[in-house]
Order: sequence, then C-alpha cells, then structure tokens
Amino acid sequence: MASKEYDSFKTEKGEVVDLQQAVDKDGAWNGIYDRNNIFCPECGRAKLKFTSRTNSHCEYLSSKPIPPNPPHMRCSHQYKAISKSGARLYYDTCTREQAIHLLYTDN
Ligand SMILES: [Zn+2]
Repeated sequence: MASKEYDSFKTEKGEVVDLQQAVDKDGAWNGIYDRNNIFCPECGRAKLKFTSRTNSHCEYLSSKPIPPNPPHMRCSHQYKAISKSGARLYYDTCTREQAIHLLYTDN
C-alpha cells in the first residue's frame, strides 16, 4: 500500500511547495513544477511520486521505491518509506561495509 503522508514536496531548488499549488482543480499535475524532480519536504533527498486524482482516490504524493532511489536522511519519513521488497533487496545486495554502517550509524 502506498503511503499518503505528504501534503507538500521540495523542489530541486530546495523550495517547499504545498501539493495543492501544483495540482489543478481536477486533481492533475498543473505543470508549474517538474513532477519528475520532487522530493521529500523534510529531507529533500528521497524522491516522491505524484499520482493524479481518479474516481476512486484523491491525488497524492508517495515515496518512490528505496532503493534504487536515495533514502530519506535524518527525517521522520525514514522508517516508513521502505517497502518490504525494497528492504529485502537492500539487505540482500548491500555490501559488508554498508551493513556495518547500518548497524552502527546513529540515526
Ligand atoms: Zn525525507
């Protein structure tokens, strides 16, 4: 299940934008901002994905899969964002150094 926890995003320039400013009245991306370059409003690092409104759901922002996209960093979304398959892939493919870093990094 995609999380629907973002009501804003950060642009490449570091500007935090309310989702409603980037959406037209029909719940579609209005094109003012580059929808391929939107990031977590908190850390500005993890990429977000915009999903347009349909008959069955409102428009929303969700995290892109981590990996391959960069993870959240020192951010409250850090632990919620990773999918089970993403976590599995990460643990299956991480190097010894990455594993040690994960275990001993205070974050
Ligand atoms: Zn974040």
